Amino acid sequence: MSQQVNPAAPVLILLGPPGAGKGTQARMLEETFGFVQLSTGDMLRAAVAAQTPAGLAARSVMQAGGLVSDEIVLSILRDRLAQDDTRAGVILDGFPRTAGQAAALDELLTYNGQEVGVVVALAVDDHEMIARVAGRYTCASCGEGYHDQFKRPDVAGVCDKCGGAEFKRRPDDTAETAGARLEAYHAQTAPLIAHYHALGKLVEVDAMGTIDAVASGLRAVIHERGVSAQA
Ligand code: AMP
Repeated sequence: MSQQVNPAAPVLILLGPPGAGKGTQARMLEETFGFVQLSTGDMLRAAVAAQTPAGLAARSVMQAGGLVSDEIVLSILRDRLAQDDTRAGVILDGFPRTAGQAAALDELLTYNGQEVGVVVALAVDDHEMIARVAGRYTCASCGEGYHDQFKRPDVAGVCDKCGGAEFKRRPDDTAETAGARLEAYHAQTAPLIAHYHALGKLVEVDAMGTIDAVASGLRAVIHERGVSAQA
């Protein structure tokens, strides 16, 4: 690690199945509180696009809706956490997803003199998740998220945030792959809810409401827990 670690920098974790809104909410928290969103899914998609060895190994697993190996995910996350912009605090979006990743994260943070602050479990209904995932897309320029039903741009075909006119859909955002991703979530990630609950770090937020309602629930949790970004 080349950076000087800031031990007071908060580490927030967003847990939840695909479609729970982790990415959308993490981006909103990033804007409101100044934390940095770290999405292992985004990092892996970038590795796939760049055709790095990690990306080449991850590609087919991601397309099938499975989980990429802990080894690959940990190595890209470690590199990302070593960058200076993470000093203000981070929101982990889509990580950890297995008990092994949670243990490795603890080890890494302990080494840095840090610890996991709050873990928010976004509580949702499985059926709804498939519909949410199957309808979503993002702005190709700035990455702002949209949905065919739940969040259309104010002007059709134009991104609200950056004015971009190109949009893209993830190849794994189909109803079939979403089913496999949900299974992986229940088998390997959902047990982390009990793990963080036992450590007194877990807060559940109802994520079935509107994007703004969920965001306001999250903001309340962050204020209650006294978590703030570091200068
Ligand atoms: P996401 O963007 O978080 O929905 O992740 C998309 C895909 O990337 C997942 O379905 C997995 O194949 C892979 N992935 C993302 N994060 C992880 C992780 N922490 N562990 C294993 N695989 C991951």
